[in-house]
Amino acid sequence: MKMPIPDYLQEILDHVRDEDGGEVADYIPELAEADPDRLAIALCTASGHVYEAGPDADVEYTIQSISKPFVFALALQELGPEAVLDVVGLEPSGEAFNELSLDDNDKRPVNPMINAGAIAVNQLINGEDSSVEDRVEKIRDLFSRLAGRELHIDAELSASELEGADRNLSIAHMLRSYDIIKDDAHDAVLSYTHQCSTLVTTRDLSVMSATLANGGTQPVTGERILSAEACRLTLAVMSSAGMYDGAGRWMAGVGIPAKSGVAGGLIGTLPGQLGIATFSPRLDTQGNSVRGVKIFEYLSRDMGLHLMSSDQHSVPGVRSITRDGDQTIIRLQGTINFTAAENILHQLTTHNLGGEELVLDVSRVTSFNRMGRRMVKEGLRLLREGGFECAIYDPEGVVTDLEFSDGTTADTVDSF
Ligand code: GLU
Repeated sequence: MKMPIPDYLQEILDHVRDEDGGEVADYIPELAEADPDRLAIALCTASGHVYEAGPDADVEYTIQSISKPFVFALALQELGPEAVLDVVGLEPSGEAFNELSLDDNDKRPVNPMINAGAIAVNQLINGEDSSVEDRVEKIRDLFSRLAGRELHIDAELSASELEGADRNLSIAHMLRSYDIIKDDAHDAVLSYTHQCSTLVTTRDLSVMSATLANGGTQPVTGERILSAEACRLTLAVMSSAGMYDGAGRWMAGVGIPAKSGVAGGLIGTLPGQLGIATFSPRLDTQGNSVRGVKIFEYLSRDMGLHLMSSDQHSVPGVRSITRDGDQTIIRLQGTINFTAAENILHQLTTHNLGGEELVLDVSRVTSFNRMGRRMVKEGLRLLREGGFECAIYDPEGVVTDLEFSDGTTADTVDSF
């Protein structure tokens, strides 16, 4: 059986392909030259299965602000929350990413997702006395392990960003004047700019995001990289401040902790379930990818991913797969959302299903969400196409709609 997920992702890209609103970022010369039509999506489950679509899924671009949550997580892990929260707050700012602002009361940057907070957090890595080189190397090494491959920094882009970095330099001076950072302002911005100039693909970002979803264990390599506590705190900040001044609307409409970057990348992290990444360089006035936001809005609705919705339970959807003579019996259980359905389909593709007849027993399924139902039915249809005689055992009628995507109907059995 062929996994239907890549085709589904392709459909989503087709859905937004013609949308050409927004502009590529032009305050960094290299970004202004980016091909505005590039489009990609990748999704990585907490069990480490990666799916991608779009001709540009393996195109490299700079991570930019999407680096911020990961470096924040590293700082939390290295120094502990108390020391980190000494230099940066946890409140949403509702301001632009490069605002020259500090909390009125305690004179710290309000959160680590705006530049002031990110520059302060960058300075925590590898200790106060670290050279820029060693600090950057530590960050590059973290990103590489999170992505599961060796990543590199686009030094040329970083240098050209630095030339026009008056805003970030003034932020660094402001941080120095309040004793939040000790380094020379130029070095602090150099270090931060290098962090932002790490080259990643959309696939890399989906796996990095899935590591946060997975409580710090990289789901593909199995390496424990970050602590569960660091991931939890990071996701909390992403949910309230990841989309800059659009964060409130984002959380209400999409409901997935997220972080965007000015090169056009966007990640979303669904705790315990998924890391999602999109790439499309044209940005809205808040600096978020126009088509990326559209894809996430669509995905959240269609796949039922909103964190505040009632069907967010991650369950091992397959209870058992057994064989009785010529019959294979697949027993499902729990709430079947996207993640559970992905797990079911993955088991069906990897399990050596024998016999000619197949019964899908859904008597222990409490409910299907729309995407879960659609995926399980598509799996059954593909198995039927592959030569199996398939039937559903559904005494409670939880499937509700037995029609397949090709207009035919699933067979049912009253007993087996
Ligand atoms: N390096 C960029 C800056 O500090 C990152 C901004 C972003 O991606 O939002 O201006």
